Amino acid sequence: KANRAFHPANSIIQIADRTIGGEEFAIIAGPCSVESEEQIVEIAKSVKTSGATFLRGGAYKPRTSPYAFQGLEEDGLDLLKLARQETGLPIVTEIMYPQTIEKFVEDVDVIQVGARNMQNFALLKELGKTNKPILLKRGLSSTIEEWLMAAEYIMAGGNDNVILCERGIRTFENYTRNTLDLSAIPAIKKLSHLPIIIDPSHATGFSYMVEPMCMAAIAAGADGVIIEVHNNPAKALCDGPQSITPARFDEVVRKMEKYTAIE
Ligand code: PEP
Ligand code: MN
Repeated sequence: KANRAFHPANSIIQIADRTIGGEEFAIIAGPCSVESEEQIVEIAKSVKTSGATFLRGGAYKPRTSPYAFQGLEEDGLDLLKLARQETGLPIVTEIMYPQTIEKFVEDVDVIQVGARNMQNFALLKELGKTNKPILLKRGLSSTIEEWLMAAEYIMAGGNDNVILCERGIRTFENYTRNTLDLSAIPAIKKLSHLPIIIDPSHATGFSYMVEPMCMAAIAAGADGVIIEVHNNPAKALCDGPQSITPARFDEVVRKMEKYTAIE
């Protein structure tokens, strides 16, 4: 179902009054984690003013250490809804447990499946039974074939609303957090009709690399980007070093809009 051979036209995913995969370039921005009402609403308002088209923010966080901040969970979802109400931005947030699917379907606009759950087939099968747009991140060490098969699990259940996200893969290089596989963009475009966006934040781990990797993603034909933005990166509860400030985000959007269609 994800194969371009059986579906030559690009898939355009409709989310609220926006689309991903068509003419509009998607800019999903927001903090790694929702931390407080003040934090998420302030960031949502500023990224909206700069031109973001979606708000991101983690409520359920898949952290490497069980002792690290795990997210505000249900309270985080409520704060995201509040930020959506204040700004009109559709919300994108990560799901961890099949038991929460009903709540996610009701509360959020795009359900993110994180890199660590790309091959959680039980979760993918359940998401396939919904009709929600799913942002499927590439697994930490997954091949393009495995990634497309994960999309196939969702689509096999009847949900064709899948957006792929390249977020960097594990290589021998450890200077950057991961290695951004830009060649995944033309590869996916050749093999599949699904939209593909790039996450320069998790791919590199460095805020100063966000702008150049966004520009590279546009040059390679991506349908959008997902960027971590924090109003106080030094104090962020998660992923501060790769988060850009709202002021910097504004500059990055101004640069991107010279090279792509941003409303
Ligand atoms: C995230 O987007 O917050 C996240 C955890 O990303 P990834 O699954 O790509 O590591
Ligand atoms: Mn993060």
